[in-house]
Amino acid sequence: MPFFDQAASFQEHWEGIAKHLDDVLDNGKFSHGAKVAELEERLADWTGARHAVAVNSGTDALVLLLRAAGLEPGDEVVVPAFSFIATASSVVLAGGVPVFADIEERGHGLDPRAAEAAVTARTRMIMPVHLFDRMADLRGLGAVARRHGLTIVEDSAEAIGMRMDGVHAGLHGAGGVLSFFPAKTLGGIGDGGAVLTDDESVAETARMLCHHGRGGRTLDNFPGISNATVVPGRNSKMDDVQAAVLQAKLTGLDAAIARRAGLAARYDARLSGVPGVLDVPGSLPPPPGSDRVSYVHLLRVEDRDALAAHLAARGIETEVYYPVPLHLQPCFAHLGHRPGDFPRAEKACAEALAVPLYPDLPDEHVDRVCDEIERFYTGTPR
Ligand SMILES: *Cc1c(COP(=O)(O)O)cnc(C)c1O
Repeated sequence: MPFFDQAASFQEHWEGIAKHLDDVLDNGKFSHGAKVAELEERLADWTGARHAVAVNSGTDALVLLLRAAGLEPGDEVVVPAFSFIATASSVVLAGGVPVFADIEERGHGLDPRAAEAAVTARTRMIMPVHLFDRMADLRGLGAVARRHGLTIVEDSAEAIGMRMDGVHAGLHGAGGVLSFFPAKTLGGIGDGGAVLTDDESVAETARMLCHHGRGGRTLDNFPGISNATVVPGRNSKMDDVQAAVLQAKLTGLDAAIARRAGLAARYDARLSGVPGVLDVPGSLPPPPGSDRVSYVHLLRVEDRDALAAHLAARGIETEVYYPVPLHLQPCFAHLGHRPGDFPRAEKACAEALAVPLYPDLPDEHVDRVCDEIERFYTGTPR
């Protein structure tokens, strides 16, 4: 049983995908074509963002967002010690310095009190991350940001479909991002991402930096031989083929999210209370005013590595999100952190195990995974 598979979804959406792909093939515009702009409009529509800028990955979206939101060289950004590496590496790539803070006692979000304690005179931004199935405590973190005059930028790469107080993830501060990495809730046929923002100047700057500092998306914006560049940008554009596929997949997104919720509930009903299973996602309600969208189904378990090996031996793939906390990553050794600095993040890294969850997963596979987890801890499935 693979950890992730979308072959059946692709079959199911093939007609829509083929139609959009045909448009791209017909006019041969694999870059600077119409599909990317169309996708941006549809993403803005779906999320309620005033602007969406489609790019080549969630990681580049974060780098562009940080720069567009005004990060200056040497500025500090408070980030959780528990996240995907891109949360912190994007800060470095944008010229800033990541400053780590621990996560909440329960859940996996940046803890507002820890974030406030990490603020210094050089802090410019706070970057909450919405991990797995829930948003971070944006009310608490927003209050910290206001007290210290800081900008909130959201690593909402995993958070498509998550809303708090009716506002989509990524739109609670200067902006946020989406990732369309194939395994994400809205996954493409390769890498992709987007910047989401309600702020016109953030959108404009991100758009400009995304293409060599030259702004606009079509070559028509640069008549004649003009190649004037205001600032050194990069090439982070999304390809039209990717945008074509994502448009087709976007049509099925609501159904995919509902299917994910059903699978998550099925896991939780079977696994809560099983000895050895320390926590299931459904035991903790999402923060007030927000809803749950299950991207990754992350259990907290005893003897994590032995359980993963037991499942692997029975053909069930699992993943550890995330094996090494950010402050102990070799690339941040120069920041001088030691084990024990962020105990909650380190505990999460030791206990976390993600089980397969994706729309194509049959219910019976969930039951099989649960049987095997129970067998591992109790000797017999219920
Ligand atoms: C996936 C992800 C990213 C980066 O997205 P890519 O598209 O893989 O570059 C950033 N942050 C988090 C929390 C993610 O899960």
